[in-house]
Amino acid sequence: MKYPQFPNLSDNSQHLSGIALVAALSQNTALLLDENARIVWANTAFEKIAGRSLASVKGARPAEFLYGPGTDINSIRFIRRRMLQRTQFDIDLQVYNSDKHPFWVHCQCIPVGEIEGVTPGFIIIQSDISATKAAQRSLRIADSMFEQSREGILITDENNVILDANPAFSQITGYYHDEVIGQNPRILSSGRQSADYYQTLWNALLTRGYWRGEVWNRRKNGEEYLEFLSIQRVKLSDGNGYYHIASFSDITALKNHAKDLERATHYDTLTGLPNRQLASQRLEAACLHAAMQQRQLWIVSMDLDGFKAINHQHGANIGDRALRILSERLASQLPPGDIVARVGGDEFLLVIQRPRDENSCQYLLDIVRESMIINGDTLKLSASLGVTRYPEDNTDAEGLIRHADQAMYLAKEKGRNLIHQFDPLLNEHLQKRRDQLTDISRGLAQNEFELFYQPQIRLNDNALIGLEALIRWHHPERGLLLPGAFLPDVENSHLDVPLGKWVIHRALETLQGWRKQGFDDIGVSINVSATFLSDWRFLEFIAAELGRFPDLPAHLITLEVLESSALDDIHQVRQMLDCCRELGLTLALDDFGTGFSSLTYMRTLPVNMIKIDRSFVSGMLDNPNDKAIVESILFLCQRFDLNVLAEGVETPEQADMLKTLGCDGIQGFGVARPMASDTVLPWVQRWQQWQQWQQWQQWQQKNQSLTTHIAAINTAR
Ligand code: C2E
Ligand code: CA
Ligand code: CA
Repeated sequence: MKYPQFPNLSDNSQHLSGIALVAALSQNTALLLDENARIVWANTAFEKIAGRSLASVKGARPAEFLYGPGTDINSIRFIRRRMLQRTQFDIDLQVYNSDKHPFWVHCQCIPVGEIEGVTPGFIIIQSDISATKAAQRSLRIADSMFEQSREGILITDENNVILDANPAFSQITGYYHDEVIGQNPRILSSGRQSADYYQTLWNALLTRGYWRGEVWNRRKNGEEYLEFLSIQRVKLSDGNGYYHIASFSDITALKNHAKDLERATHYDTLTGLPNRQLASQRLEAACLHAAMQQRQLWIVSMDLDGFKAINHQHGANIGDRALRILSERLASQLPPGDIVARVGGDEFLLVIQRPRDENSCQYLLDIVRESMIINGDTLKLSASLGVTRYPEDNTDAEGLIRHADQAMYLAKEKGRNLIHQFDPLLNEHLQKRRDQLTDISRGLAQNEFELFYQPQIRLNDNALIGLEALIRWHHPERGLLLPGAFLPDVENSHLDVPLGKWVIHRALETLQGWRKQGFDDIGVSINVSATFLSDWRFLEFIAAELGRFPDLPAHLITLEVLESSALDDIHQVRQMLDCCRELGLTLALDDFGTGFSSLTYMRTLPVNMIKIDRSFVSGMLDNPNDKAIVESILFLCQRFDLNVLAEGVETPEQADMLKTLGCDGIQGFGVARPMASDTVLPWVQRWQQWQQWQQWQQWQQKNQSLTTHIAAINTAR
């Protein structure tokens, strides 16, 4: 058997021919097979790439160790066929090394034999093409991605000239591939984005290398669509500068879906009108607009009258249709720019920018009252309207809606088919009152109130008979406040009773303190509001308080009841006062003469004392009418056997006249101003000393002889 002069490693020849040397040293693998395709010789490159030594593979067929699971079966068949036919061939083949690691080879097989003058066999030369194969595969994947992607892909060069576009691009934009090659992508522009928008896009590409965002573009058929676009700037090693790869998906449908969602959250499904939320947003915008244009805006809350009954009588279906018809009427009859919204079952909110009638909303009621025929039945609706006007009612959208609602409830209270206008001034006043009440409540909790005391004097002997408790508020910011600054707000409020309780408790506590210090014949007068007096809890409370201070003689406690305050239910008050009398309390009718029913009260209520109002006292000396009134009161009181105390006595002249007319007692700045509780007792002490000294003097004058006698006795000692 004669082989060509290839290196024969079996004899380890050191005399290789030139050809054999090439084969031995080549980077490519070289194999020499015998007739039966068994390995006779392999070069070093083969040993290296296949990971097997020649000794271990000699005599084996390459197929026995080179093939693996990835080797193409058709390729194997092809190789067998060609070798049997002894024809030359080449093929790309995936083979495996000793580690079972696959690699690709380009395999060339040349049958040799007698013609070449050698023993028949095969020469096989393989080159490793793994890298090329991998690159080809990546390219194929990229290619199919480009071809089959559902995202439109556009490739442009550094000057943004289109180099390629994929089929999805054509599907989305409607442009054929060939139509866009060489063009600028701006052919897709919808004109919706500003130049600034594109400027930011390019800046991002230049600085960061990519950009992502939403863009409105236009299809070839003119239709606009929204795409989510991402652009990448890439540089290849081909020396052609940068490329841009833009991929985008059409998200118009998504956006529309979002719009549907928006519709559902902002629109009423039955009528298609804006709902409350949207109405509020639009009203906010309308206010801004109106303010800029210095125009008025009407905010109207509309509630259908008796709509429940309609639903009940005709069925909910008819009710729904009536609502739809009314909605259409309102929407079509009011000018564009006015807002019509359905904000509840049978509640609508209207914002009128251009009223048909500058002075009245009557025309809105008229629209509601137009009869409608449903299923042959004639239906007539009516509504109650609450209206507020911006900017007179200068608040935000939510506030305006609330005010219109408030007014609507008042309209409803008055009857049906009526309009009530919201009054911002009244509202402001109410708001102030609410704030003040909150402040008073806080003041109560923080002990900011104090009772001052003003003496009441018996004219007969100048004795101090009692002290009237008058409330003061040490306000942390506003300073010392007189009752006129806060009591009017308390009147008839939820604080009336708590404050009244506080006053009574504090006054009794003080009285007890005085008594402990030895002043046990002075009384205290407490002002009681009409509201507290009419409250069923009053009696219970006063009885409990007397129980808490068991040492206090009840007759020293005077309750002053305002004659001028409207004692709503005089019989109930009478019963209450009867009970107070039974408890032993003294009762006084305050501010007597200022009310409408002074005489009725005097006759009906079980009081012990009348307090002549200060207005008569101050006018008494100059005004004969006032004097006449004072005289009449005094006369009546003598007839009814009531004590009389005159308030607001400022001068000795007034006191003298009152004494002459037969008044029992006085109170006023002329004697003393109301005093803080810590200055009361020293004053009382001084007063009582002076009064005793004066009495002593009077007594002395009256009993001159006795005085002389005593003096004589004393000098004789
Ligand atoms: P009133 O019951 O008629 O109390 C007398 C008011 O006349 C006091 O005003 C007192 O300071 C004032 N006054 C007394 N002498 C003179 C005078 O010679 N000249 C003038 N010009 N005024 C004099 P004040 O303290 O401001 O109280 C006002 C009203 O507030 C009281 O009128 C009473 O109706 C009410 N008030 C005061 N304290 C209380 C309270 O604790 N509870 C309730 N429910 N009402 C109170
Ligand atoms: Ca009083
Ligand atoms: Ca008074």
